[in-house]
Amino acid sequence: MRDLPIFVDMRDRPALVIGGGVVAARRAELLVRSGARVTAFASELSDEFFELRARPNFRHEARDPAQEDFAGRALCFIATDDERLIDAARSMAKKAGVLVNVADRPKISDFIMPSIVDRSPLVIAVSTGGASPILGRMLKARLETLIPAAYGRLADLMSGFRGRVAAAISDPTMRRRFWETVLEGPIAEAALAGNEGAAGAHLARAIDSWGAERASPQGEVYLVGAGPGDPDLVTFRALRLMQKADVVLYDRLTDERVMNLVRREAERIYVGKRPHNHELPQADISALLVKLATQGKRVLRLKGGDPFMFGRGGEEIETLAEHGVPFQVCPGVTAAIGASAYAGIPLTHRDHAQACVFVTGHGRDGKIDLDWTALLQPRQTVAIYMGLRNLEALMAEFIARGASPELPAAIVDNATRANQRVVVATLATLAAKARAAELKGPSIVIIGAVVSLRDKLDWYAPASSAAIAPRHGPLDPAAGAE
Ligand code: SAH
Repeated sequence: MRDLPIFVDMRDRPALVIGGGVVAARRAELLVRSGARVTAFASELSDEFFELRARPNFRHEARDPAQEDFAGRALCFIATDDERLIDAARSMAKKAGVLVNVADRPKISDFIMPSIVDRSPLVIAVSTGGASPILGRMLKARLETLIPAAYGRLADLMSGFRGRVAAAISDPTMRRRFWETVLEGPIAEAALAGNEGAAGAHLARAIDSWGAERASPQGEVYLVGAGPGDPDLVTFRALRLMQKADVVLYDRLTDERVMNLVRREAERIYVGKRPHNHELPQADISALLVKLATQGKRVLRLKGGDPFMFGRGGEEIETLAEHGVPFQVCPGVTAAIGASAYAGIPLTHRDHAQACVFVTGHGRDGKIDLDWTALLQPRQTVAIYMGLRNLEALMAEFIARGASPELPAAIVDNATRANQRVVVATLATLAAKARAAELKGPSIVIIGAVVSLRDKLDWYAPASSAAIAPRHGPLDPAAGAE
């Protein structure tokens, strides 16, 4: 994040606008609306200022600003083409410690103006960090159509009841649940429909009955698959649960960008494990889930990929069931499926593979323990999880058991993430190539004739921008589907 998004209380605070054109007028308007005391410096004001002139918190100075005009000002907006004036105003502002915005010049601004969706008191500000104001405005336009004007009324209604709710429901978790129930139910609908009277009466009744109904909150565990990394692969349901959580347990496989989707106020507990360094044994994680849920919390257990794919999700819910803790399981895109799509290697294909098996290459006590007869079937793709550390031994074992050393094999490292890397080789050469590439994992190994399709299909997947969804490829109906 380049800029810090904040909303500043400008009531009765002095601010400057330099310039008398349309852009200056828009800035002045916003400031006046926020209650700031605005002084505009311009030899002449355009017609756009017509209504502003009548406002008590607006003043015009028909001259250039001097150093003393900056003293004690909170903000300064510069909107003029006069480069000399821009320079002078900026340096005076700097001297006085006033933050400056120069219209359309993010590089020389201390802060930038977001695109705004105004449903006061609800305000949404969109920023692209100066990268593309047009994109920001496009998003604003979309949000305008998504968020009914009545949301402002709803926010007003809630604001009016905040004190009463706080007095009646002292526990913050319970209070949040109360408001969620309000927002998801008929009270919000009545307010949005413009029937604030009914909504208010209903809300007052709900406050009275709430305390009696829910003496102690019921905890719950959400076992959620967060996908392999790209936040675009998080499901809608996962997102909903992530936004409801009071506490989140996550591990090393959870991508930071996915963590950013979790409710910001949720408590975060790292329960990650690393090979050779089992920080928190599985039994302890399961026990922690039970403990937190028993305290009445909504506990989000975030898992990389899918919770039931080599994720020990099964063990966790067994413990929950034993203790009578309610839980939900939300599936996720498993790493092999993500890797397949983002690396351009279809796992099955009419001409190459009719089956795909998912196995773990992580041997117990360092020994590889796989059903080789099942793995070495013809016309079958093998996807290996946790295979990076044993890669050499794994590939050698495939060949020793009779697989052709020429069989295509690939490794997809950090699949679906911005740092995704794909190494394509054969059984004989994969380990050496992977070592040369210094892959750090997590990685998926894919073995089978389907790997050769990656080149044939001219896959578009630049290593540096894996986050950009491929436009075409083997998953197009015309190209690869059965
Ligand atoms: N439940 C997870 C797998 C957990 S086991 C899932 O469904 O994906 C951990 C292994 O998953 C890693 O060793 C690696 O083999 C694989 N993995 C997880 N995320 C990955 C990613 N972004 N890219 C490649 N492999 C990944």
